[in-house]
Amino acid sequence: MRLILLGPPGAGKGTQAQHLVAKYGLVQLSTGDMLRAAVKAGTPIGRQAQNIMAQGALVPDDVVVTIVEQRIDQPDARKGFILDGFPRTVPQAEALDRMLAKHGLALDAVIELKVDEAALIRRIESRIAEMTARGEALRPDDNPDVLRRRLEAYRSQTEPLIAYYRRRGVLRSVDGMAPITEVARQIEGVLANVADAPRSVNRSVKPKAKAGPKRNASHLGKKSKTRRRASRKRPVPKVRSKARSEAG
Ligand code: AMP
Repeated sequence: MRLILLGPPGAGKGTQAQHLVAKYGLVQLSTGDMLRAAVKAGTPIGRQAQNIMAQGALVPDDVVVTIVEQRIDQPDARKGFILDGFPRTVPQAEALDRMLAKHGLALDAVIELKVDEAALIRRIESRIAEMTARGEALRPDDNPDVLRRRLEAYRSQTEPLIAYYRRRGVLRSVDGMAPITEVARQIEGVLANVADAPRSVNRSVKPKAKAGPKRNASHLGKKSKTRRRASRKRPVPKVRSKARSEAG
């Protein structure tokens, strides 16, 4: 399963990506996190990206494309991944298409978190104010002026990707202004309908428990029936489960 989460800064892409990591065991590839790590480590890429990021502008396409290409070649990403913050420009999207084609892979869905920009600015400004009041460390690009520049960069350089992916038939939109759990529910609904639907790794029955006759007998209540109905809908045979998880 290969997904892109698309939306302006502060739309909740990172939060939703983490939820998908926990639920489906997918790998989150956040270019923002990778670049911040490079800045912290003082690598050549980090030194090149540092000021650009602090100003709220976009790091050059070739730099980001290179780090993503290296990252998706790692063994843990072969099963599938969620791209969070990449691509951010049409040339990046085209580079991603080429990368995936080279490996015979395709995108399963591009999920757009639709948000109201004015509400987003208010939401982020109040988060920054709260963090400042609590004395918590802010990111260098966590300030209202830089945020406005990041939103401008999103509008002019990233928003065209919505049409780009809509034309390819992979765009799905969810209401990013809804409460976090509701957004997560909407995304799960989208994923249930894609061809290569991911399987939850967060089963309601503890994975170690053996389902012997005694255990079934002790679970004849309403809850148990619901569980058994759910498992009839989506059977999880052991052998297929491994094959699917490897296919991603
Ligand atoms: P994020 O954490 O995704 O909001 O990214 C933080 C900053 O990293 C952005 O404001 C950009 O300066 C830079 N960045 C992250 N991803 C990309 C990308 N795909 N293309 C260019 N710059 C990026």
